[in-house]
Amino acid sequence: MLEDSHRYFHEAAGLLGLSDRVQEILLAPRRTVKVEIVIEAEDGSLSHYLGYRVQHNNARGPFKGGLRFHPTMDEDHAAALANLMTWKTAIVNVPFGGAKGGIDCDPQTMTKSELDAVTRAFVSQTKEVIGPSLDIPAPDVNTNSEVMAWIMDEYSRHYGFSPGVVTGKPLHLFGSFGRDEATGRGIMYVMRAALRDRGQSLSDVTVAVQGFGNVGSHAARLIAEQGAKVIAVADHQGGVENPEGLDVPALVDWAREHRTVKGFPDGTAFPGDELITWPADVLIPAALEDAITIENVRDVRASLIVEGANGPTTPEADQILREREITVVPDILANAGGVTVSYFEWAQNIQRFAWEEERVITELEKTMERAYADVVATAKRKSVCLRTASFYLGIRRVTEAAISRRALRQEIKLD
Ligand code: NAD
Repeated sequence: MLEDSHRYFHEAAGLLGLSDRVQEILLAPRRTVKVEIVIEAEDGSLSHYLGYRVQHNNARGPFKGGLRFHPTMDEDHAAALANLMTWKTAIVNVPFGGAKGGIDCDPQTMTKSELDAVTRAFVSQTKEVIGPSLDIPAPDVNTNSEVMAWIMDEYSRHYGFSPGVVTGKPLHLFGSFGRDEATGRGIMYVMRAALRDRGQSLSDVTVAVQGFGNVGSHAARLIAEQGAKVIAVADHQGGVENPEGLDVPALVDWAREHRTVKGFPDGTAFPGDELITWPADVLIPAALEDAITIENVRDVRASLIVEGANGPTTPEADQILREREITVVPDILANAGGVTVSYFEWAQNIQRFAWEEERVITELEKTMERAYADVVATAKRKSVCLRTASFYLGIRRVTEAAISRRALRQEIKLD
């Protein structure tokens, strides 16, 4: 995955005229932390895990990025995702850099108190390098507001009351209105903008959604509220479809109760791996990496892809999508609503002043519309696709900040 994200980076950095040496400097993480986590499991045995935090770049502000609990988490994964965060925060122009981390555990097989212990051990071992003005974690795959509350609590035990150390907290514990649904809401705004560019609106299209966790479920609910027909949804257990449009609020309730969309009574079951090639106008991959690959890309039938997940398309598949003239709104733009509202939450925490929900929604809409417009303008000016334009814009803003901070002044002339 690391190589994949680097390929997109090099393509855009080349357009900016950055030398190989500067590209190397921009790609290298500022710091990588790896910790051994040992806890006593509930049955009395010892369990151990590896935890990672990769702090990629902080030229534009404190490191910022999610924390993922998943068996595939490793240093390469964290580095690739940290890298994406750096460009993402720059595209939506929030004052953060990029980081990512996680633990190679499988929460499906762990009890709540084991998860709590693992989270606290991770914080205790990384507390010197995180903090409200240093590095601010957030939710990602298999982590939620409850885990964020544990992080805040553990960090505050060492450094005193510090709500700004982490975002995505529960609303009753210094979280922000709208954070839980923010990534899905941002997806809705960029999808609406992309459709508007084609003379369409959300109520004109059918949609297939892969992944029904935080990102996929909120995105599906919000686009359905605006009239889009969500005709197929799949998660890691299987898929459910209804050509007349699924009842998304009922599906959300079902998935909350059963922890999967599988078995939803008001639809027909299908094997989840067919979702990517579903005959829908729009495809939203919102699960994990490498969902659209060289194996399935030629069978993709959507004409618009809005990437909810990070890295859902391999570079080889992306090349074919370009040749097939399928529009892709890339991850680093499409799913940036999450980090945008994380910024609002952090700002509220450090100001000790809570915003109304309406303000969060209005500011998010403005931010996503502005970022989309900036990317489209760049794509037109440089005659490139939206992905290359997004990387170009993100890299340009980070490089400008680095130049102004004198780190790279001698080396760089931007075009
Ligand atoms: P989540 O854990 O809440 O949900 C993940 C979903 O993906 C689940 O429904 C799971 O069943 C499904 N899934 C896993 N493997 C699958 C497979 N092989 N096929 C189909 N479905 C599968 O995670 P999330 O927070 O919704 O994150 C999803 C993606 O969005 C990740 O790539 C994450 O990095 C990215 N993202 C999340 C946020 C956020 O705010 N949570 C922000 C930006 C990007």
